[in-house]
Amino acid sequence: MSVPAARVVDAVKVYGAGDAEVRALDGVSVDFPAGRFTAIMGPSGSGKSTLMHCAAGLDTLTSGSAAIAGTELTGLDDRRLTLLRRERVGFVFQAFNLLPTLTVAENITLPRDLAGAAGDAEWTDALIDVVGLRDRLHHRPSELSGGQQQRVAVARAFAGRPEVVFADEPTGNLDSRSGAEVLELLGRAVRTMGRTVVMVTHDPVAAAHADDVIFLADGRLVDRMAGPTADGVLDRIKELDRKAASTRSAQEGVAT
Ligand code: ADP
Repeated sequence: MSVPAARVVDAVKVYGAGDAEVRALDGVSVDFPAGRFTAIMGPSGSGKSTLMHCAAGLDTLTSGSAAIAGTELTGLDDRRLTLLRRERVGFVFQAFNLLPTLTVAENITLPRDLAGAAGDAEWTDALIDVVGLRDRLHHRPSELSGGQQQRVAVARAFAGRPEVVFADEPTGNLDSRSGAEVLELLGRAVRTMGRTVVMVTHDPVAAAHADDVIFLADGRLVDRMAGPTADGVLDRIKELDRKAASTRSAQEGVAT
């Protein structure tokens, strides 16, 4: 078995304490295989972002373990975690998070420059073509559309050839056409460039771009689907909603 790009085992994340306690993750175990595009779906509050943040080393688990390409994150000190995130993980967020004073080219190579890593000019060059920004390299983010800014963020995320790129609702701020372009890019990075993507989304159309979808509800992994279609994902969500509603009404029936 090849080592997954990211893995969590028995992941539990508790926020707050006492009456305010929230179990955002309640025992999730999942592998995110290398060379695949996985979407994490689920209703708002189901734990999607928490799972991504803990799998990526942006947040720590209350119990259980997380690993990036076989390196356990649990127990790493802050300095090592920062280094691991910088060198082995890429991120795309809903807000593009580009630096406004830097050009497109500088934004793309910034993480590499900060890491003091030798630039890989050929790879960066190929990425610029893939994201279609060759004629915008010397522009500032404010001179670009939202879709173009997110494409810069995608190129930046892949610039260091990370083990895995985590994308958190990457199309949340985009119109559907620009959103589709960004999703196609993420898919192409996986299918033609051999990269690995894990994407949090609540949009079945976005999830349909992935190879695999995992479904969360109330902090638990409740279902998975390979080769998703938007309709298939939507049906599965409706089914999960119905189950959740009937569980709730059964519990309320017991409580009264
Ligand atoms: P999703 O991404 O599916 O919307 P989240 O992972 O953001 O869900 O949140 C899961 C649960 O954890 C929610 O009930 C949310 O309110 C809670 N939560 C998330 N982050 C925090 C935090 N920093 N402090 C307290 N509760 C949090």
